[in-house]
Amino acid sequence: MKKIILVFLMISLVGCAYSGTVQPRLSDYGFQKENLPLRTLSVCVISEGSWPKERIEATLSDLSSSLTEQVGVSLRVDRWIDHPIPSFVPIQGLQSLVEIIGKEHQKYDLVIGFSSRGVVSNAVEVVSWTAWLGAIDDSYRKFIIIKFLDQRVLMHEICHAFVFDRRHSMNGVMSAAIVKLPLLPILFNFPEYVSEEDRQEILQNKWRNFNEKPLIPERYQADTVQLPKAD
Ligand SMILES: [Zn+2]
Repeated sequence: MKKIILVFLMISLVGCAYSGTVQPRLSDYGFQKENLPLRTLSVCVISEGSWPKERIEATLSDLSSSLTEQVGVSLRVDRWIDHPIPSFVPIQGLQSLVEIIGKEHQKYDLVIGFSSRGVVSNAVEVVSWTAWLGAIDDSYRKFIIIKFLDQRVLMHEICHAFVFDRRHSMNGVMSAAIVKLPLLPILFNFPEYVSEEDRQEILQNKWRNFNEKPLIPERYQADTVQLPKAD
């Protein structure tokens, strides 16, 4: 009985995620105009070596094109650091990124870590229902850790850097299912488009300063990080 309910829940989550995205409007002149001017985000990548550099770069490049089309935000990798990212849970991974980059973080808008970790720990997470594919810090919404290299997971986390009013949405790439249920993004070919509602908030916060804490409701401040004090 439980299994049937789970399957039903998964089907309805997938169904929701498909509807109400900006996809049909991408070629509208008015829509494209709203995305201007373009903002380019400066990105620092910290890679543990789980994936070849070319694969990470290709994923970031595809993501940048897609975000440009949807909200007028592009990504530029300004620094690449090869470094282990010790972590068992997302919050440890995020804090590790802070320790690795230190005060230098101020030079970049986003610091994105890539670390797949071991098969065993992934299996334990799936069994214990604590699986995660990516995470972003709730202090600055600027440190991101990616455990599952996929454009949609990355886009989901980057959207969190601009959407503060809610944790997740029912539609599009901001659906919780994209980062909570392993393999679902691939198995069901999840959409890589934002919902209309999320796009509005992303456009509103598009020019935020990444060295300032955004106003995030307290109930959404789960994964906080401690930053080194500025000079
Ligand atoms: Zn999320």
